[in-house]
Amino acid sequence: MSSVVLGMPGRRRTGADAGPASGEPRPDDTRLLDRFGRVATDLRVSLTDRCNLRCSYCMPEEGLDWIADERLLSDDEIVRLITIAVEHLGVEEVRFTGGEPLLRKGLEKIVGATTALRTHDGRVPQTALTTNGLGLERRATRLAEAGLHRINVSLDSLDRARFARITKRDRLPDVLTGLAAAATAGLTPVKVNTVLLRGVNDDEAVPLLAWALEHGYELRFIEQMPLDPQGAWDRDSMVTAEEILAALRTRFRLVSSAPGSRGAAPAETWVVEDAPAGAPARAGDRLPRVGIVASVTRPFCGDCDRTRLTADGQVRNCLFARGETDLRAALRNGGSDEEIAATWRGTMWAKEAGHGIDDPSFLQPSRPMSAIGG
Ligand code: SAM
Repeated sequence: MSSVVLGMPGRRRTGADAGPASGEPRPDDTRLLDRFGRVATDLRVSLTDRCNLRCSYCMPEEGLDWIADERLLSDDEIVRLITIAVEHLGVEEVRFTGGEPLLRKGLEKIVGATTALRTHDGRVPQTALTTNGLGLERRATRLAEAGLHRINVSLDSLDRARFARITKRDRLPDVLTGLAAAATAGLTPVKVNTVLLRGVNDDEAVPLLAWALEHGYELRFIEQMPLDPQGAWDRDSMVTAEEILAALRTRFRLVSSAPGSRGAAPAETWVVEDAPAGAPARAGDRLPRVGIVASVTRPFCGDCDRTRLTADGQVRNCLFARGETDLRAALRNGGSDEEIAATWRGTMWAKEAGHGIDDPSFLQPSRPMSAIGG
């Protein structure tokens, strides 16, 4: 087993450096600062906790107790919170996720309202969508027209029977058509997210990359995290980034694309030097790449720039946070934009140094990934 890199934040000199133990008050700064000098500029918005797949590592076959309709934020409430995040709190990038965000009828409207906003320096906020791709064929063009910039489609197997076993639905052809539609609509580079599970699909690293290169998609492997509702995750049996790299290197020549300069990006990326000539990924000046999001074995908490909003209006300062702050109540009780912004700032100020997966006292969050927003 490889050693674990903690990836914890050092103290930074940003003017916000009160330090976790100092007890100093939060500095007067409008951005989403935390006690370690990190600044959150990337908002992940979960649009629903429901999903039309049942990926074994994410949701039980029978589904979950869905959030009641009256607790879900309306489209207008979501747009108001995104507006506060962009206009009052310095958020620059918004990713829509879930559950399955394509299940949300108002998705295009929410994307359009987000891209109509302007960041503190006058730019259009970057927008992205993480989806399982079901129904994307019908909506990719409309999403692009609403201003969506990028898309990640999740796909764990190219084998139809295996895909059906992992997701409990025989929908591989729909995902592949959705991917093609996203590329045609110009939502490029189209990224594909894959979770490898030992003994299930861990023999597919090489075929998946070969397929992605052939189609011009950018593949990202995600280490499995302890976010399954069954609580069955096991550190010793998860497929690690190191193993994935070793498997890929049996077939491809990989060169780290930016050693040591990943910044806040979750994926470490490698250029695939021997990608087939003429592969669509070579179009333009973009080199064919593969990424690995090693949240468990190479955590990047020290560079984390995320803040999360759940479909029922709770702000979380970390995917693994044990607590959350209720913005829905503030909204529905008539809170002003500035009052809601102040509450949000307070939540982020309390962010922990790291997610703590490798701490013996680690407790899985009470909500699974599908309810938090992946
Ligand atoms: N339904 C959408 C989808 O399939 O992409 C968005 C939500 S899903 C929770 C977002 C991403 O989280 C997917 O790529 C999925 O594979 C990943 N995911 C879910 N549970 C995970 C886990 N326990 N560890 C790592 N990734 C996980």
